Amino acid sequence: MSVAKSVMVTGGAGYIGAHCCKALFEAGFNPVCYDNFSTGHREFVKWGPLVEGNVRDRDRVTSALREHNPIAVIHFAAFSLVGESMSDPQKYYQNNVVGTLMLLQAMREARCSNLVFSSTGAVYGNADDKPIRETDAGVPINPYGHSKWMVEQILRDYRAAYGLKSFSLRYFNACGADASGLIGEMREPETHLIPRAMMALQGHAADFAIFGSDYPTADGTAVRDYIHVTDLAAAHILALKRLLSGDVGGSFNLGTGNGYSVREILSAINAGVGRPVPVLKKDRRPGDPAILVADPTAAFETLMFRPKCSDLATIVRTAWGWHQKAHPMKAPEARAQERLSSLADS
Ligand code: UDP
Repeated sequence: MSVAKSVMVTGGAGYIGAHCCKALFEAGFNPVCYDNFSTGHREFVKWGPLVEGNVRDRDRVTSALREHNPIAVIHFAAFSLVGESMSDPQKYYQNNVVGTLMLLQAMREARCSNLVFSSTGAVYGNADDKPIRETDAGVPINPYGHSKWMVEQILRDYRAAYGLKSFSLRYFNACGADASGLIGEMREPETHLIPRAMMALQGHAADFAIFGSDYPTADGTAVRDYIHVTDLAAAHILALKRLLSGDVGGSFNLGTGNGYSVREILSAINAGVGRPVPVLKKDRRPGDPAILVADPTAAFETLMFRPKCSDLATIVRTAWGWHQKAHPMKAPEARAQERLSSLADS
């Protein structure tokens, strides 16, 4: 009997990390989830062993690497709220940069030389209106984007000096949920468009608003490249396999190349759920550019990446399925539903 090869997934109890653990398991690997549950969820650890720890705790990481002897690490563990990074940059540089340095040191000591790193479209800062290419990178406009960009530079240097192979995957707007409904987006506080709109539909976000209707776009609202989390997870497996077959690594955009405005997303939610999202209008959110769309050609050509679930109907269907489980409806709808079930029981 062949034993599944282990891959250590830092932040494996988070939104994208948990989807990646599931994809690893389905691809025949043993995902070892390394998480301290600062933002992750215990109930998301379902596809392999758990090591509870902080990435900044080098001894803990070292002992996890010794115990599980992974062929690679996929590194998600990081803070990722742009606004918070502006008010508390130390938290971001400590965790995202120092934490990664600790992890890399432990990996070198353990002679583990394959890493897939969770990067972000935020490394591009205020990009032009045209689809963004990997070579456009390098002018982040907030500490979160800076922290990810710094790690990308560190990885480039470690690749050249120490032979530590790595892919940095720059996500655009991650969304949707696994078709099983077992895992999905669950943050506190929640700031993202699709979950906020769904929470508004469920009575959890009475102040849900469109941030900015005066952008220089077709309908005046900001345009983003939305990519389903299942497609993101699949891209990590492709990057991992490419490292294992000898590629030294690089950086790739993960997006679809299609841009949708906030209004287009809300129309897709209205159509998918069958009810209009109650929505206010507010001013632009500070730091939000008008248009951010990936040029995904490099990932398409080199990784053979093809988004399969990133059409708006699938994004809305899976996200809504998850939200109905994760955030049951609040009063008065919840009360009405309770009344209906008690009538049915009597
Ligand atoms: N947005 C909005 N209302 C919200 C949350 C987001 O209008 O409650 C807009 C936001 O200004 C941006 C787009 O939706 O133009 C996507 O925002 P999100 O926070 O989901 O992702 P980001 O692009 O900031 O990473």
